[in-house]
Amino acid sequence: MTNMMKALIFRGAGNVTLEELPVPECNPDGVLVKIARAGICGSDIHAYTRGGMAGGIMSDESKFGHEFVGNIVEVGANVEGLSVGDRVWVDPGCCVPDPNLSCMAGGFAEYIATITAVKDRDVFVLPDEVSFAEAVLIEPFAVGVHTKNRARTCVDDKVLLYGAGPIGLMTYAALVNQGVENVIVAEQLPSRIEKARSLGADVFDNSNGADVYAYAREKFGSFTSNAVEAADIDVTLDCVGFGVILATHIENARYSSRFSTLGMDFSPMTLVPGFLMAKQLEIMGSRCYDPADIVEVIDVLKNRKTDIGSIITGEFGFDQATEAFETACDRVKGLKVVFNIAD
Ligand SMILES: [Zn+2]
Repeated sequence: MTNMMKALIFRGAGNVTLEELPVPECNPDGVLVKIARAGICGSDIHAYTRGGMAGGIMSDESKFGHEFVGNIVEVGANVEGLSVGDRVWVDPGCCVPDPNLSCMAGGFAEYIATITAVKDRDVFVLPDEVSFAEAVLIEPFAVGVHTKNRARTCVDDKVLLYGAGPIGLMTYAALVNQGVENVIVAEQLPSRIEKARSLGADVFDNSNGADVYAYAREKFGSFTSNAVEAADIDVTLDCVGFGVILATHIENARYSSRFSTLGMDFSPMTLVPGFLMAKQLEIMGSRCYDPADIVEVIDVLKNRKTDIGSIITGEFGFDQATEAFETACDRVKGLKVVFNIAD
């Protein structure tokens, strides 16, 4: 092993450079991983288009990349249960001193050193059936699975899922894996509608104000409580995150239903809070993931009930970094863009 590696450095909006850096040293409580694949996240795209601080997630002039998988090449003296050669997914939060800095973990590199490496908390060994090509989806996948699990989604629930972007589609795949059959996916972008349908989803095109609740009434029936009739939706999962979805939900939701969102809309909005009481609504936010979500995602990838790997629309080398980011920024062409670094 040489002691130098290639890594991408984020230098500000529209500016990513490929540089030679020393391979990081293996920490006594961590592992050193040779990265095989690394995915470009929505947050990386925000930084690339608006600047790191504008997105509020990373400083300009920093390493970045937080969705990666690879092989362990060195194990710290204090680490238990992990070995050289293990194929692993790594929680990016264990590569930085503060998990809130995980966007700057440095996964767009040939090697990464973790600070800690507790098995099944920081580092998960991949089963043979799950290739690096698909395992690179684990991190964003877990974000979607967490949203579903925050809403305590059960097999018999009738679910309305907003959004067929990468996280929406992965959340859909997790619902299928769980055996949830009554799902409506609401999406507006034609290419994403088509992709969701190719995975088997019942997709409602809610562009131009088309009423998904009217469609849900047809498909799921209606539910009346206290003389108020509403579409019989148990769980609404918001993988889009525009405030209007929450406002529309509060107005249209049925009695005692659950709503979980991973949206990042910080603009103020008007709500009718009385509906929360009158309908006894549960509204919750969903942030990141727990180890249990990672275990579930690995299970989804292993069981292959959907062809979720097909959401990867582009694989690039580090020498094509600008092309990779430009593709990722294109909402039609760039559903999920990945760097193929090694096998
Ligand atoms: Zn991410």
